[in-house]
Amino acid sequence: MKSRRKTTTSRSEDRGRARARDVASDRDLLTRAREVSRRAHSPYSGVRIGAALRAADGRVFAACNVECASYPLSVCAERNAVAKAVSEGATRFRAIAISNAKGRPVMPCGACRQVLHEFAPKLRVLVEGPRGAVLECRLDELLPDAFGPADLE
Ligand code: ZN
Repeated sequence: MKSRRKTTTSRSEDRGRARARDVASDRDLLTRAREVSRRAHSPYSGVRIGAALRAADGRVFAACNVECASYPLSVCAERNAVAKAVSEGATRFRAIAISNAKGRPVMPCGACRQVLHEFAPKLRVLVEGPRGAVLECRLDELLPDAFGPADLE
């Protein structure tokens, strides 16, 4: 009995530590997103977004939006982060943090939702809001009943 109780306590402590790690890693992810938003190339819109994508293996891929004088060729931070990650061999993801340098929360656009769905339909999405508040949801809430790889089988 004594060892069982100890195990229960230990699991509870493990969960507490895991939760603390998640909070710390979410904070780190948001920091990475905020930092990379400063590198945005957005001379046309002035919108500066950073996205930090955490892969299942723990690596983080951060990217900013890159605009182009030929406007339709501009690419969002979220899709640039996916391209970086896939180029480095990461295709399974746990979470993405998105930060707008101006501080207003900005949700991923439809195109980015679709590309993120390709790899992680249940991805956690953290969006930095005003005064550091964080909005959190899952990708399947932002893109319900999504078209995806299974529809092409
Ligand atoms: Zn987008």
